[in-house]
Amino acid sequence: MEVTFLGTAAATACPMVFCSCPMCSAAWKRGGKDLRRRSSALVNGDLIIDLGPDVMTAAFDFGADIRKASVLLQTHAHSDHFDAGHLITRLPEYAPEGIRPLDLAASPETIRRMSERLSLEEPGASLEKAEWQERLKLRLHPLRHGDSAALSGYTVTAVESAHDSGALLFVVSDGEAAFLYATDTVRLTDRAMDLLKGFRLDMIAIDHTYGPGVRGGGHLNAEQAAEEIALLRAEGILKPGSRAFATHLSHEGMPPYEEMSEYARARGYEIAWDGLRVRLPSR
Ligand SMILES: [Zn+2]
Ligand SMILES: [Zn+2]
Ligand SMILES: [Zn+2]
Repeated sequence: MEVTFLGTAAATACPMVFCSCPMCSAAWKRGGKDLRRRSSALVNGDLIIDLGPDVMTAAFDFGADIRKASVLLQTHAHSDHFDAGHLITRLPEYAPEGIRPLDLAASPETIRRMSERLSLEEPGASLEKAEWQERLKLRLHPLRHGDSAALSGYTVTAVESAHDSGALLFVVSDGEAAFLYATDTVRLTDRAMDLLKGFRLDMIAIDHTYGPGVRGGGHLNAEQAAEEIALLRAEGILKPGSRAFATHLSHEGMPPYEEMSEYARARGYEIAWDGLRVRLPSR
């Protein structure tokens, strides 16, 4: 399995548009790994997690041909994770050619919210109606906590997230490796931990929205992400030799990449960056 991080920022991207805080100023100056697009990931070139607003700039920069995607996993419909303007271009009105069927897995709540946003782009559009699913060439897979679906050779399992109602984390397995995409989230719920005990993961990408010492809502900060990772390792859910990456980083209290990496290394995890490709299993 190969996982490509298409974006690793929280909702505001990094640097944030009008901000001159130390992190944003460092990002303008240093560039490179400190420039972060809104979060999204690509597995093996054909499974995309979150069709966010920055997926096309990531595709251009990292040679990720999203036309090849046969599966879209949508964690939730917040605007940093779902750009209805991209999905709507599958309609014949946009004159697309060679559109392949796309399996879309998300919670029923997320599907409803995606549908509302699509209808702002195209009046009447609804993901819940067969006619529009057909026009968009989408096969819908509504998933709730604990549900698994077999999609294009992958087994995808939905895990609840207390980030927002209907938000999901996904375990993606291709028979070779298993990977947990865990943004956006707060502390993993007891039900999530119980479900995850059935897995031996090769990798996790986990929410790391706030820097050390910053207490914000709906997400994890650096200490909390480190604690969740340590817990997953202690439970054996993260296998020995598995890799743990922080993603969905905002500017709040966040030092630049090099400094943040040092902090993370000392606590047994790594900081992801846009364009990072990880091969699994790592050994
Ligand atoms: Zn987010
Ligand atoms: Zn800032
Ligand atoms: Zn969110």
